[in-house]
Amino acid sequence: MNSRSHQIVAVIGAGPAGLMAAEQIANAGYQVHVYDAMPSAGRKFLLAGKSGMNLTHAEEFEKFIRRYRERSQDLQDYLQRFDAEEIRSWAKKLGIETFIGSSGRIFPVDMKAAPLLRAWLHHLREQGVQFHMRHKWIAYEKSTLIFTTPDGAINIQPDAVVFAMGGASWKRLGSDGMWAAILEQNGIAISPFQASNCGFMREWSAHFSERFAGTPLTNVLATVKSLTGGNLSRQGQFVITERGVEGSLIYALSAELRNQIRANTYAELVLDLLPGKSNARVLDELDSPRGSRSLSSHLRSKLGLHPVHCALLYELLTEAELKDNAVLAAKIKALPIRLDKTCPIDEAISSAGGVDFSELDKDLMLKAHPGWFCAGEMLDWEAPTGGYLLSACFATGAAAGRGVSEWLASH
Ligand SMILES: Cc1cc2nc3c(=O)[nH]c(=O)nc-3n(C[C@H](O)[C@H](O)[C@H](O)COP(=O)(O)OP(=O)(O)OC[C@H]3O[C@@H](n4cnc5c(N)ncnc54)[C@H](O)[C@@H]3O)c2cc1C
Repeated sequence: MNSRSHQIVAVIGAGPAGLMAAEQIANAGYQVHVYDAMPSAGRKFLLAGKSGMNLTHAEEFEKFIRRYRERSQDLQDYLQRFDAEEIRSWAKKLGIETFIGSSGRIFPVDMKAAPLLRAWLHHLREQGVQFHMRHKWIAYEKSTLIFTTPDGAINIQPDAVVFAMGGASWKRLGSDGMWAAILEQNGIAISPFQASNCGFMREWSAHFSERFAGTPLTNVLATVKSLTGGNLSRQGQFVITERGVEGSLIYALSAELRNQIRANTYAELVLDLLPGKSNARVLDELDSPRGSRSLSSHLRSKLGLHPVHCALLYELLTEAELKDNAVLAAKIKALPIRLDKTCPIDEAISSAGGVDFSELDKDLMLKAHPGWFCAGEMLDWEAPTGGYLLSACFATGAAAGRGVSEWLASH
């Protein structure tokens, strides 16, 4: 038995970040114990697989890293060391082939999370990693970690720790964000959690909401003003909901929309309903004779607008604006929608906020607690959907795992 196998590392959180850290540390020859509050591992990871498990993205690194916004620099080294190619070859070693979709997103060939998670857990157990489920970390005193378990409270004193307890959305899958108060009480700076990749709320008229909730608006161009100057535009689709809007296009703009709401109490999303047609062309079509047809059927037959587009114009414009072709054409090309709030954080795909990077060294070790590392969504970064979330969880998990091994080797 080598001296390493006597040293015990606790990984708290059996999501993708914690499991990746566990894998690195077990590879280096240390004893790894993974603790998780839930009855089974990787519950959010499994949910992510329900709508097509998007592991990472194939775009060139310069573009890829910009998706992490203000944290691009903080995350760059970790993501470079565990990039999309590395993620693909890691999955392949677990027997999971991947492919690059037409959008550049990378998926397992069966699009599912369960076979990958199963293979991963099997591999970890073979490496000797031990799992302790239904163990919730609730406090610490000096170097002793305290957990509640079905058999009462237990204390452990590992040689090193990786915290990977996730963000603050989808509490029922385990990531309840309660760890933040424990660290904060002990003087660690935590940026407040905020919803990210989330829907937004506005009050629709009862008529519009009853008729169109659940209806997608396809192929629209949405623009938001960024607080740091300039506009951010994305083309795609989103869904009208009973209480507002959500879907991939909205998620892609969610950080800007949320920041606008924080600064101005509301956000303005500007929609181009016909991105393929110029303003002049739209006006031309509107000006063509419509005979006895209603405005809606004119908009549908001349401009190809869908009933939901037309209803949105009726919902948001005044009668005078609808009657003035020049104004109507301009609004079809730039229709402002006021959004009042983010949807509740618990429903968001991910959360912004978490452990401040100023608290961590380059190996993701807490400066205030040598030997204790952090990884995954519990760190203060955010990114859009498209595989960027899991990429950063894998990459920071791997970095924390390497950090633990190096730290133990030198102590
Ligand atoms: C619907 C949905 C779809 C998604 N789809 C994708 C996708 O396709 N691609 C992508 O890149 N990302 C996707 N994501 C995001 C991705 O799943 C998360 O970013 C990722 O799971 C975060 O990993 P993590 O390991 O940091 O935390 P988590 O996966 O949240 O794991 C944290 C673990 O810590 C445990 N824990 C928390 N507190 C304690 C405690 N006090 N004591 C003990 N254990 C604790 C939890 O039980 C949990 O198991 C999706 C998310 C959702 C909700």
